[in-house]
Amino acid sequence: MSDCLFCRMVAGEIPADVVHSTDRVFAFRDINPQAPTHVLVIPKDHHRTVGALAAADPALLAEVISAAQDVARQEGLVAGDGEEPGFRLVTNTGPQAGQTVHHVHLHVLGGRHMNWPPG
Ligand code: AMP
Ligand code: ZN
Repeated sequence: MSDCLFCRMVAGEIPADVVHSTDRVFAFRDINPQAPTHVLVIPKDHHRTVGALAAADPALLAEVISAAQDVARQEGLVAGDGEEPGFRLVTNTGPQAGQTVHHVHLHVLGGRHMNWPPG
């Protein structure tokens, strides 16, 4: 989609601070980080929301989640398949949740203590 910011980043038309890339998945640092580590993990194909992706291509959703785990490991947020110190995965759907880019993305957040419930 030529008018989608994240599709344009995948295509190399807009710069991205890339931390991970496979044939189907792309990960880059958020331009407005909310934690010491804040990386966005996306499918290279355009899907609007996580629910739309799950319905259209569940294997690709699994690849996106695996890539998020790889990023967390790479960033020192977990060791191996472990859990410590830990990280948070967030995906926003729709205006009430604050989705601003309509190409599904997982936020990988870590490097500080996370509060619950979220704001
Ligand atoms: P959301 O509000 O969940 O849709 O998340 C969109 C995220 O994209 C926000 O955290 C923005 O800071 C981030 N973002 C917007 N433009 C860029 C960009 N050019 N490069 C990296 N991250 C971006
Ligand atoms: Zn897109």
